[in-house]
Amino acid sequence: MDSNDQIKLKETRQVLDLVKQQKTMLGESLVSLDLFLYLHKSISLLHLDDIKPVLLEKLPHILSVRYFSLFLFNANEKELTLACSNHLDMEKPLSFKVSESGVMQDALNQQRYIFEADFTQSKYYKGKKNPLFKNNFFLCVPLMIENKIIGVINVNDSAKGFLSVSDMDYILNVLEFVALSVSNALLHEKTEVLSITDGLTRLYDHREMMHTLEKEFDRCRRYQSTLSLLMMDIDKFKNINDTYGHQKGDEVLVALATVMTRLCRSNDTAARYGGEEFAVILPETRKKGAQVIAERIRTSMAKIRFASGNQEFGVTVSGGVAELNLDTMSSPTDLIHVADRALYQAKKDGRDRVVLGE
Ligand code: GH3
Ligand code: MG
Ligand code: MG
Repeated sequence: MDSNDQIKLKETRQVLDLVKQQKTMLGESLVSLDLFLYLHKSISLLHLDDIKPVLLEKLPHILSVRYFSLFLFNANEKELTLACSNHLDMEKPLSFKVSESGVMQDALNQQRYIFEADFTQSKYYKGKKNPLFKNNFFLCVPLMIENKIIGVINVNDSAKGFLSVSDMDYILNVLEFVALSVSNALLHEKTEVLSITDGLTRLYDHREMMHTLEKEFDRCRRYQSTLSLLMMDIDKFKNINDTYGHQKGDEVLVALATVMTRLCRSNDTAARYGGEEFAVILPETRKKGAQVIAERIRTSMAKIRFASGNQEFGVTVSGGVAELNLDTMSSPTDLIHVADRALYQAKKDGRDRVVLGE
């Protein structure tokens, strides 16, 4: 082989190397694209609770990072709430004021990502390193739809130990898509809640209450469990409207709804049955237990002072309690009738009291 051939051979080898390199890069891009499309399909879901497990399982792999945490932003409260994270060493409570995290606060205020190649050298470092994170880089990305902030994602650690410019581009593109999915889910959930709640009190409306009662009734039939229903009605409410105006009346309704929500247990369902009549569905509760809750609601309500101009007034409520008896009741309506009759009796007996139905 003369020297000319040798040069040609060297050049050919170089070209082959280059082709090989490009093939690898193309392969990597196709894998990334594939993962991205997979993520697209699997997080285009309507509920955040369905999106979270997908993010937990796939996001670190897709972004080629080890750790991430997603916080949702509450603009009214200026609070961040942890939605999901694949590291459980979070020292902070699940919700905290934005001002408690310098880096997330800056990312949200400046509406741009914050990247620190060495977090320990940045102004955000408070002298305590998270022992979980092997790499020093830190990426904090606000999730935004147009100009509205949805939340923020923090990213830490990669197998490589650093983030390159192209890694970052890719991560930002993927997160833009995550923001869209999360925002869609939040919007969808909000619409769902609005469609089953009463506009004034934000309690379940009549239809949703009946739906819940039917579900609970069926459950009791299947498992022979207990169930009580409480009906509450504001006393002489027409007088309140007539004396202080409809708007004041609305204020009283909201106050009662707030008291009921505060005093109900997490398994109970409070609802606006209609007008100034409210209901509480109490699963796994006997009528004596329901009576205790009803009395608490009644006495709490009686303590509230409402103001109208320079006048002050209070309101009382009456309640009727019914406990499910499967021998004598064949539908939720039967249970409602018993509670209603007890409520009627409470009115007849002088109001501001709770009566147990038979
Ligand atoms: P009782 O002690 O027997 O329950 O007397 P009451 O005056 O509370 O009962 P009544 O059924 O005669 O009056 C209920 C009133 O509630 C009449 C209605 O205008 C008023 N009401 C119903 N829905 C609303 C509402 O959304 N806002 C306001 N402000 N008033 C309402
Ligand atoms: Mg009334
Ligand atoms: Mg009424």
